[in-house]
Amino acid sequence: MKKISRKKFIHKSALALGASAMLTSCANEKEEITAPNIISNKKYRWRMVTTWPPNFPVLGETCTRFAETVKVMSGGRMEIKIYGGGELVPALESFEAVISGAAEMYNAASYYWAGKAKAAQFFASIPFGMNAQQMHAWILCGGGYELWRELYGQLDLVPFISGNTGVQMGGWFNREINSPEDLQGLKMRLPGLGGKVLEKAGGAAVLVSGGELYTSMERGVIDATEWIGPYHDYLLGLHKIAKYYYSPGWHEPGSILETVVNKRSFDKLPKDLQAIIEAASHSTSMWSFHLFEAKNNEYINKIKNESKAEFRLFPEEVLDLLRLKTEEVLEEIVASDKMSAKVYDSFSRFAKQVAAWSEYSEKAYYQLLSK
Ligand code: CA
Repeated sequence: MKKISRKKFIHKSALALGASAMLTSCANEKEEITAPNIISNKKYRWRMVTTWPPNFPVLGETCTRFAETVKVMSGGRMEIKIYGGGELVPALESFEAVISGAAEMYNAASYYWAGKAKAAQFFASIPFGMNAQQMHAWILCGGGYELWRELYGQLDLVPFISGNTGVQMGGWFNREINSPEDLQGLKMRLPGLGGKVLEKAGGAAVLVSGGELYTSMERGVIDATEWIGPYHDYLLGLHKIAKYYYSPGWHEPGSILETVVNKRSFDKLPKDLQAIIEAASHSTSMWSFHLFEAKNNEYINKIKNESKAEFRLFPEEVLDLLRLKTEEVLEEIVASDKMSAKVYDSFSRFAKQVAAWSEYSEKAYYQLLSK
């Protein structure tokens, strides 16, 4: 578009507004109709803090892609600088940093904030809860977004889906799990609700950061660890030091990642930039989820070909016990927090409905594929 003065621009915009109905059949419609949609030429320079190490595969890449998409969609009016965990604020202070306005947005997974807002974890992943496809359906079309915005709105935040890991792996074990007794005293790196469930089942959930996982497993400080899925697990080298690779990831059946914006900053944006943030977040979310799928598919085969790891499924009675303990953990959360009760009611009702449908759709189809 050729350069025009502000005065001419406003004049042209007014003309286009008044005559927009007539212009739809005009040869110049492209230039004339787009002009009124440019609300302001003001430039925005925002900061996004994240809980991931800088440029972390998939999760960090998703943030970079989001920022690039926003820049292109906004014609350069909005630029977002990404900070890895610890670069601007410590990773787990991202939540407070955005509430206070020290950064305009963060990218994380909402279960990190369970200590600050209990109900937040329902928007990431719940053990034995919904998978990625079902979570997306609940959040986007089943009332989940409304509840998520209500909860975060109380903290002056606006949440958006920014990705999903898909079903994670159950983890790497140097001990066989053949019966519920094998969980007794099992020292496993398993954060969040999964860890609470393991403790109720007789195990010990040990806190180990990603950077210390390999040596903790190698030295026998822990008997087992989960991380994410084949791609990230391979990059950590866990296949070199653990005997068994268990599935499924009952503790994280489809973890949602979130891009969260300071509400005061968001409300000050022109409507088109608000829509761009939402659209860019959703489009990169789609990309992130499918990048996980593509990479995990590639790397599970690498692990099979390059290591001696034995692939195992958790025995049914072990999963039955873990499911029972999950119900106890969830009952405690719901009984102690009104908002968690409200969110869990919506979550569990949707999960029940979608399970009935999945029986005839995805499950029936997977059974067909496995024949
Ligand atoms: Ca995990």
